[in-house]
Amino acid sequence: APLLVGADASHVPAIMAKLDKAIRDNRFAKCAVETALFDALGQRTGLPVSQLLGGRVRESLAVAWTLASGDTAKDIDEAERMLAQRRHNIFKLKIGRRAVADDVAHVAAIKKALGDRAAVRVDVNMAWSELQAQHGLAALADAGCELAEQPVATAEALARLKGRYPIAVMADESLTGPASAFALARVAGADVFAVKIEQSGGLRAAQQVAAIADAAGISLYGGTMLEGAVGTVASAHVFATFRDLQWGTELFGPLLLTEEILAQPLQYQDFQLAVPTAPGLGIALDEDRVQFFRRDKKRSAAVAAH
Ligand SMILES: [Mg+2]
Repeated sequence: APLLVGADASHVPAIMAKLDKAIRDNRFAKCAVETALFDALGQRTGLPVSQLLGGRVRESLAVAWTLASGDTAKDIDEAERMLAQRRHNIFKLKIGRRAVADDVAHVAAIKKALGDRAAVRVDVNMAWSELQAQHGLAALADAGCELAEQPVATAEALARLKGRYPIAVMADESLTGPASAFALARVAGADVFAVKIEQSGGLRAAQQVAAIADAAGISLYGGTMLEGAVGTVASAHVFATFRDLQWGTELFGPLLLTEEILAQPLQYQDFQLAVPTAPGLGIALDEDRVQFFRRDKKRSAAVAAH
């Protein structure tokens, strides 16, 4: 806060450079500050954040859904419901805790049930050894699974696996901003980058990660840290500016929540999230709900009573 007080709020890159110089890492906090600055700048100038970031090339984003029950029949039911509602037709399965053969059988059964109506991908969250990944990726490719997210932990191991099997290898945990993106690109460690604004350290840093991917011939996927509405829509503005977004996004965070914090909920329809067009982030908080959710409610009530 002392670094921000008195600064010109319209000069977002200058402010962020000042913060970067004084504070190492803290990527999530920096992303929140930059999001707030761009939202405010957009409100003042009447422009959506995507416009401030260079302009959007798409008005809506494909949104994947995660099937994580681990129960094959349950996951197929859930996928069928999402297809019927036209909410999602890309499904990501979280695997890696069971034996490779069991996980592969689970994925293959789901892909067989859904057929060409849906894309099936997996997220291994670094759980496999390189040898397990060799078995796993070969079998997943045979089963019609199109992408494996972070099957192994390191950039070097990812690089050794990439291109060996007809299944895309995506980097997620390995990506922590532009420098790591460059390191991954240098060793050809991924077919796809899962770009996240917080992991990248901000909205423009996420664009830099995308630029490195573009230059290296790596395709893009819009990732999520399971944000609520604000982080989700900030991500949406950034992803809307990517020249290519070959693998869509997983901006489903708000759909997991049972409570709404926006005056108008985000629009999910026809397998897509609409990127708001109003100034700034293009959303309005429901102030009553914000009061309701305040963690310091008791304390502010006590202060008010004094
Ligand atoms: Mg992941």
